This record gives sequence, structure tokens and C-alpha cells, in this order.
Amino acid sequence: MSYELPTLPYDYTALEPYISESTLEFHHDKHHAAYVNNFNAAVEGTDLDSQPIETVIKAIASNPEKTGVFNNAAQAWNHTFYWNSMKPNGGGMPAGDLAKKIDTDFGSFEKFAEAFKNAGATQFGSGWAWLVLDNGTLKVTKTPNADNPLTSGQVPLLTMDVWEHAYYLDYQNKRPDYMGAFLSNLANWDFAAQNLAAA
Ligand code: MN
Repeated sequence: MSYELPTLPYDYTALEPYISESTLEFHHDKHHAAYVNNFNAAVEGTDLDSQPIETVIKAIASNPEKTGVFNNAAQAWNHTFYWNSMKPNGGGMPAGDLAKKIDTDFGSFEKFAEAFKNAGATQFGSGWAWLVLDNGTLKVTKTPNADNPLTSGQVPLLTMDVWEHAYYLDYQNKRPDYMGAFLSNLANWDFAAQNLAAA
């Protein structure tokens, strides 16, 4: 069963001016597509081919002989999760149960936002910042390269790609400006709330 490159859940221009059409075209049509194609080619005809991608990711994460397959599998999954972590007119503060839980577990939304931006800023080189549910508690975490929280038994709720290809065309070296726009204008709190409710 091959993993399908999902279409973006919004138009290529829908996140402007915060993320340009150009960035989404390269990021989705080139970068994400390549991870999906490489993953499908790597598992075709193997015993991993019939399993859901999440199962494959967890199964091979600690196998050094499968690093290449893992990187493409995790990046294929991470990017699908990232597209859903954003929406036009997103950002600002969440509502409902998620907002209450953020207040309980972080102290306030502002403290969560500070931790999330700090995770993105301190991820040296390429990687991801995440809001996760870890044993019933919300936490902010960061992962290098392709790594993701599935391999630590955490439930991902929201992610922000901090690879340079996610922001360089629009922000050049100013990663903090991209992260600010993500939290103020793009974060899809409905998606995070759904993931929390399903956890
Ligand atoms: Mn990316």
C-alpha cells in the first residue's frame, strides 16, 4: 500500500502573506513529494509495504540499517501533519478544552507560546517544534531532522517545520519572524483540538 501525497488542505495562495505561493509550491510539490516518492520506492515489495506508515515509522526508528527509509517515512508523515497544523486566518488563541488544558499544563497561553517559539529557535539546524500530549500532559518538544514524537509514544497535536526550506524564500534567515507568523496567523487550533479529543 503506497503512501499518497495529500493535496494541500487549502489553496497555494491561501497562507499569504505569511507563507507565499512559491514556498508552498516548492515545499509541497518538490520537498514533500520527494519524501513520499522515496518512501514508496524504498518499501515497495518489502514486508513494510503492507503496513500503515505510522507503524513503519515506529517499527524502524531505532534500526540503523533503516535510517534512509525512516527519514523518508517520517518526513512524508510530518509534512502531512504540518499542512494540517496551519490554516488561513489561523493563529491567535485556542478555545474550549484545549485552551483550558494549555492554561493548566503551561500556566498560560503566553507561557506555551514562549516555550513553542523557544523550541523552534533552539533546534540547531533542521527539525520540528511540536505540541504533544505526553502521558496525559501537554508538552512542547523539538526533534532534529526527520524525527517525530510518534517514536517516543507521545501524541502529536500540532507541529511547525523549522527546516530552512519552510521559510527561507519568505523570511531568509529570520526564523523567529516565521515562527511569530505561525503562532499569530497560521496555527490551526481546531486541528490540535481534534487531536487532543481523539487521544
Ligand atoms: Mn519541510
